[in-house]
Amino acid sequence: MPKILDGKWVRGEILNELAPRVQKLTAAKRPPGLAVVLVGDNPASAIYVRNKVQACRELGIHSEKFTPPESVTTAELIALIQQLNARPDLDGILVQMPLPPQVDSQTVIAALSPEKDVDGFHPFNTGALVANRPGPRPCTPAGVIELLRRYGIPLRGKRAVVLGRSDIVGKPMAMMLLHQHATVTICHSNTQDLPGECLRADILVAAIGRAAFVRGSWIRPGATVIDVGINRVTDARLAADLLRNAPDRLAAFHKNGSTLVGDVHPSELEHVYAYTPVPGGVGPLTIAMLMANTVASAERRLGAD
Ligand code: NDP
Repeated sequence: MPKILDGKWVRGEILNELAPRVQKLTAAKRPPGLAVVLVGDNPASAIYVRNKVQACRELGIHSEKFTPPESVTTAELIALIQQLNARPDLDGILVQMPLPPQVDSQTVIAALSPEKDVDGFHPFNTGALVANRPGPRPCTPAGVIELLRRYGIPLRGKRAVVLGRSDIVGKPMAMMLLHQHATVTICHSNTQDLPGECLRADILVAAIGRAAFVRGSWIRPGATVIDVGINRVTDARLAADLLRNAPDRLAAFHKNGSTLVGDVHPSELEHVYAYTPVPGGVGPLTIAMLMANTVASAERRLGAD
């Protein structure tokens, strides 16, 4: 039976370890502070922000929400970022993506103070990642590394294949695996023979955003599968195939009309060593790593040991 890599358990461990660090900072100086910028009224973004604010509250991190209107300009957002950069009580600034089309996201990210960039997206921090220097790391791939470490899955000398090359998941994931001494291949939409590339993987990370795209026959026996994808499925025939080994989930699909699946076919994993389920695998780790980046930033800025 494959081992299930439980992201909720890892999240709990990470938050339990952060709690005394937050208490220590609060007792000695002040609580860590996070600014969350939510532009407009994208419902998915509002949910993400709510979950982030809630995580701050549970951990004792001070959070402040800023909600510029959908019509905000790049210049107005940069002015807000500059105010937040100058606030001594704020250690982290998170700008919830995506931003409206009239806003130049890259310019906004570049306006962040790199030391407050708790998403790890500023070009300075991208450079620090590539050079393997300290700094905030993008939260989702950092969470994957934490999960692999806490489950004792070796990376040194292993063949890792990353599907997807986005700036927030695929590219930083590949770089972090490289720093763990894996031999890394990055695949994307122009890759020829994707099944053949996947079959070489000891560690397969799928981050392409396509429901159950990766088939079990593409995965070698004994591999570890990290499924970053989060895809909503509403088609009943597709759900019946994807959940054929999960009758409880299929029953829930028939009740709710939709289900979440990853980028890897969830019913074709019997032969792997370990895998992250969707939901409940990588998903819970992203916010935990955001909290970790915020606490680390506060410690750096307040000079904690
Ligand atoms: P993007 O859409 O930014 O990037 C997708 C990548 O997948 C691109 O590099 C693209 O290639 C590649 N790709 C798309 N289709 C194919 C294909 N048929 N074959 C090979 N490669 C392909 O997505 P993200 O990186 O932002 O997210 C990926 C997934 O991870 C999504 O499902 C997202 O919801 C999920 N996610 C989950 C998070 C979590 O907390 N668990 C956090 C962030 C994302 P190309 O570059 O050539 O276009």
